[in-house]
Order: sequence, then C-alpha cells, then structure tokens
Amino acid sequence: MKKVLWQELRRTEFEAAVKADAIVIIPVGSTEQHGNHLPINTDTNCCFSIAQRAAQAIDEFPVLVLPPVWMGYSPHHMEHPGTITLKYDTFVELLTQIAICVHAHGFRKILFLNGHGGNSAIIASLAFKLAGEEGISAIGYTYWNISPTDEVMEAVNEADKGFIGHAGETETSLQLYLQPELVDMNSAVWTSGVCGDPTKGSREKGERIFETAVKALIRLLRHYHSGELGEELSLWRVEISDQLINHMRFPRYI
Ligand SMILES: [Zn+2]
Repeated sequence: MKKVLWQELRRTEFEAAVKADAIVIIPVGSTEQHGNHLPINTDTNCCFSIAQRAAQAIDEFPVLVLPPVWMGYSPHHMEHPGTITLKYDTFVELLTQIAICVHAHGFRKILFLNGHGGNSAIIASLAFKLAGEEGISAIGYTYWNISPTDEVMEAVNEADKGFIGHAGETETSLQLYLQPELVDMNSAVWTSGVCGDPTKGSREKGERIFETAVKALIRLLRHYHSGELGEELSLWRVEISDQLINHMRFPRYI
C-alpha cells in the first residue's frame, strides 16, 4: 500500500509530493463524550479514517493526510467526563498555525476535513481567515456535508431524519464499522449528551455511510486538484482560490 500518512514520509518524499501538486488533508476531530456507548475519539476516528481511505484510492496525484487534530471546540460537552476542549481562539490559532506550516513547505492545496459538529462553523470560515490574514488558499468541509446532493445524508438515516445528531444512529453505525471493539451496544441508550437514536445503529449502515463519505471525498479531491470545484461550493463549503487572493479581494492586513 502506498504511503499517504504525513508522519511516515521522509524529507525527499515531501519534495516529490510538492512537485506533484499534492493535496494535503488536515483531519480535524475532537475528544469529547459520546454517550455511554461510544469512545471519546469517535469524531477523530471517523474523519481520519475517511481521509485515509480516500487518499489511498487516488492514484493520479498524491494526497497526504496529516495526523488528526484530536482537540476541537467542545465546551458544550464539558459537563460529561472525558471531554477535552480548546478555547475558541486557541482552536482557530492551532488550525491556522498548522496550515501556515503546510503552506510553508510548498503545498498549495490544503483541505480541512472536519468530523465534529461543534467545529463546523469554524472550519467553514477558516478559508476566509487564511486567505485574508495569511494569503493561504484552503478549503474546509465536514465529512457528512461534502456532497452537494447530500448523498451522505441520504445514506445516514431513517431515524436521525437528516440531522447528524451526536452519538446517535449515524456515529454509532460508523463506530460499529470502524472500531467495534470500543462500542458497548448494551449501554446504547438515549441519555444526556446523546442526540439521535443509538439503538438504530448497525455495522451495515456504518459501512454504507463510510463508503458514501469516502466516495464524496474522492470526487471532491479530484475536482479540487483539477480546478473544477463548482457545485461543491456554498456558504458552508468554502474555497478561497489563489486567484481571489491575488486579485486583492481579500487584501492582507497583517
Ligand atoms: Zn461526534
């Protein structure tokens, strides 16, 4: 299997990846309570796994996957044990610094792949910040929201009814597929801190959601690499292109 993990590459391999105009995925998760039945690394595991599988599937150009950012913005989960959150400004600054480093090494296509609802708005607005303040072009998506036709959401649920929830059917299904040894379905009940119905989760649904999300990400990566991003763009799916930066619509002010 080819190497796609950033931390496994040697110096010369980075140089080759830059020359080949690689896309760098920065998975962004969380460490937060997911009810009584799921591990606290659920969000990180989901987005990191989807990113790795998509990167492996693309042969036309390199796709590298950074180690996942395991802390997110989760103050609303702090009342339950296990949650570790960053403060808002710290989180934004952390993501900014990572993007600056990736960009400094010559990479010009950077994609944040988010796995936590509480991060979504930050991830969506980060492209504007990086463009305006740093002159860096990047895009940011949440894995269940990649597809313009909402294929992932279609695959997600009958019970969650289009809402991803938290530790509900969707995440329970994904975890039953990705790391079943860490799931305790005997305690999969609605309780404080759970949104959705975890009892409806299944490994089969998890596989379908996972494969659909991977497919949507592969298509997005191909469009991004060929400069054909179009229908993917909307308020919550943001790209700031080099052209926009260069045309000073986002003048740098630092
Ligand atoms: Zn989650």
